[in-house]
Amino acid sequence: MKQAKTSILIVEDDAQISEFLQLSLQSQGYATSIATHLHMAKAIFFDTKPDLVILDLGLPDGDGRQFIHKVRQQSDIPILVLSARQMEQEKVDCFSDGADDYLAKPFGVHELLARVKVALKRSAMMSLRDHVVHLDALVIDRENQVVSLNDEVVHLTPIELKLLLLLARKPGKAYSHRQLLTEVWGAEYVDDTHYLRIHMGRLRARLEVNSATPRYILTEAGVGYRLASI
Ligand code: CA
Repeated sequence: MKQAKTSILIVEDDAQISEFLQLSLQSQGYATSIATHLHMAKAIFFDTKPDLVILDLGLPDGDGRQFIHKVRQQSDIPILVLSARQMEQEKVDCFSDGADDYLAKPFGVHELLARVKVALKRSAMMSLRDHVVHLDALVIDRENQVVSLNDEVVHLTPIELKLLLLLARKPGKAYSHRQLLTEVWGAEYVDDTHYLRIHMGRLRARLEVNSATPRYILTEAGVGYRLASI
């Protein structure tokens, strides 16, 4: 029996872009569907359960960010945001909402296809590996909350452990300063980025061979931090 194709939902109101995306993705063997507005995107999402979403933010009946919230209420599938608005804050907000990747328009087709491939691969590995994340010598057992490096248990402070477990929810995905501070310290600490810097520094000191060129905990410029993927 032929295996079902990986399906991608394209949410984009610009017909020229959505058709171009559709052709490019189909040429790589993906099945695609197109939604031209939010309402339609929600209907198709619940109907077809796609494997990945490519999402434009400026839609006729609302902001694409609303759709990110909707999807995240029930699914971990990769969401790749496309946006013409080149605003740093918007990028940060999208990551906070739960987007996996962000591509500014205009983008090249090769770049887009590469990002799609990486996101799908990451998502497949996450479901395979379940609760244990392996990255070279680093093993993060999320279920038992145990971290080991070169087969030796690493002793972390409760805050360091919380930070690492949060990043390990989705290796490769950037988490914003705001999100990390809110989840680890609480909403009232949302502006205390120096706490984050200090504790990330200590975490790196425990895990990295060289904190200046980290292998595991990477800085996402202007956004926050992410755990390396693969
Ligand atoms: Ca648009």
